[in-house]
Amino acid sequence: MADLKRVVVIGAGIAGLLIAQELKSRKDAVVTLVSDREHFLFLPRLTELFSETIPAKKALLPIKDVWKGEFILNKANLVNPQEKTVILNNGQSIKYDVLVIAIGSQVNFFNTPGSQYSYAFYNKEDADKLKEHMTNLLEGDEQAGTHTFAVVGGGPTGVEVANIVSRFAKKKRPASKVLVVEQGPTILKVLPEKAAKAAQDVLESEGIQIMTGVGVKNITPLSIEVQKADGSKETLPCYTTIWAAGSKPQQISLTGIELSPRGEIPVEKTLQAVADKNIFAVGDIAAAGVPKTAQAALQEGKLAAENIKRFLDNKPLEQFVYKDKGTLLALDEKTVGLVYGQVLRGFIPRQLRDKYYQFALQKYQ
Ligand SMILES: Cc1cc2nc3c(=O)[nH]c(=O)nc-3n(C[C@H](O)[C@H](O)[C@H](O)COP(=O)(O)OP(=O)(O)OC[C@H]3O[C@@H](n4cnc5c(N)ncnc54)[C@H](O)[C@@H]3O)c2cc1C
Repeated sequence: MADLKRVVVIGAGIAGLLIAQELKSRKDAVVTLVSDREHFLFLPRLTELFSETIPAKKALLPIKDVWKGEFILNKANLVNPQEKTVILNNGQSIKYDVLVIAIGSQVNFFNTPGSQYSYAFYNKEDADKLKEHMTNLLEGDEQAGTHTFAVVGGGPTGVEVANIVSRFAKKKRPASKVLVVEQGPTILKVLPEKAAKAAQDVLESEGIQIMTGVGVKNITPLSIEVQKADGSKETLPCYTTIWAAGSKPQQISLTGIELSPRGEIPVEKTLQAVADKNIFAVGDIAAAGVPKTAQAALQEGKLAAENIKRFLDNKPLEQFVYKDKGTLLALDEKTVGLVYGQVLRGFIPRQLRDKYYQFALQKYQ
């Protein structure tokens, strides 16, 4: 027993839970999973969870059902690499030999005034809160702005959220108005033009209004103030503003470790922290030079698990090489995919997406 290595994984998300599961068969290590949530959430399926187009078990797994090793339900606040300890929110200190930091991202409001009145879409609680708020409004009387829903940000998340918000609202109130407010000149600038255009066509076919070159300057519970490229400002009556305009790394104090300007943990190609070889950082929290996506977090998780095994076995570590497997935007029966440079629409990309995520989810169970 004395030789057992302590592997502590902070964050039971896409990268963290995968690593814990991949390491569970090691006889020479005890893996402790620390999570601030009782559930594992497969974030790319949060919109489908909201719209109930998939059963909850395809996106949300109670950790106690899938992880049979040591589990601590708490938030990790501080890592002291000199003492190899993690300090939790309740003051508890846990020792590690190898530490994995996989705490993901959080919403970034970019200091926009009134952002506290907007709805984030980052976890199950956010989705539930938004749905409850929308349900109350849609059951109430219509006044200016009560049935107007603004989604700030025209990236992949904003586009998927606009689609489900529009469908949810229009089922109850067909005259509801959904806007996508995007500061840049186009939506979906991370995608090639033809794929972005295909998704924009879908939103427009659903009656969603896309406002580009328009920044949100202020939010109140009843309105949003926007500024156009020519500098002119306008206040739009709107009782619901959903913030999908950006993310930033989650925070954790790391004694003596310098973070990237964005607040990520600088890593080597092996996914070890540059500052400390006993610490692995994976997924959105790592400055690994790859997109902040589930696809990348999955690939990083897989390689990090392999490298932790090698580290424990004193073998040379492997280097992370990211492989882009395409993009699939969940837009129900109008799903748009970009796979090997080809734009796909409808049933096939929807099925592909479902199968891909179902297959990926098996690794967590
Ligand atoms: C709405 C939405 C839709 C998305 N859709 C897609 C998509 O379609 N395709 C795609 O590729 N990517 C998508 N992404 C991005 C993708 O989900 C993330 O890049 C991915 O989840 C990152 O994985 P991760 O393991 O780094 O973090 P996460 O999966 O976010 O997991 C982090 C975990 O750590 C926990 N945690 C945080 N801080 C602490 C702490 N201090 N102590 C303990 N636990 C902590 C969190 O609660 C969470 O469970 C989407 C993101 C969002 C928000």
